[in-house]
Amino acid sequence: MGDRGLALPWADGAFPPATLSERRAVWGHLMGLALHEATHALASDDVPVGAAVVSPDGRLLGLGHNRREETGDPTAHAEVLALRQAAASWGEWRLTGCTLVVTLEPCVMCAGALVAARVGRLVLGAWDPKAGATGSVWDMVRDQRAMHEVEVIAGVRADECAAVLQEFFAARR
Ligand code: ZN
Repeated sequence: MGDRGLALPWADGAFPPATLSERRAVWGHLMGLALHEATHALASDDVPVGAAVVSPDGRLLGLGHNRREETGDPTAHAEVLALRQAAASWGEWRLTGCTLVVTLEPCVMCAGALVAARVGRLVLGAWDPKAGATGSVWDMVRDQRAMHEVEVIAGVRADECAAVLQEFFAARR
């Protein structure tokens, strides 16, 4: 994903599109990429959460899925890994104006990471009422004390995102 990202099926300069229905379609498409990425976690019995980062002009900069079990790394959450890959593609740590798309509401660590990376927009699928840090339990991204504010678009393909997790946990009961 070098050369500042992989082109996705929308024209440069029109990201995100102006109309609400077109924007919804774009968020849904990006969530599809994150959902697909989430399924890669299943190979290592990791909780299936997937994330994608796109540039301000709508190019794919990074993907990540939860790899805690696979790597033994407590910080190997989907969002952190996607942000790392995105920064490498983008060529710097500041991801100003970029969008992070994730199947599950970020935890405290990941919410902090996306603020630290200066991500401009968060698109999330399912809420996490137990540990969510972008609106559920905490709101780290719209805190008045935060140095940087993130636009939050929630509930994109929420049922599908939640179903992936429910199936994973149901199979382990
Ligand atoms: Zn996290």
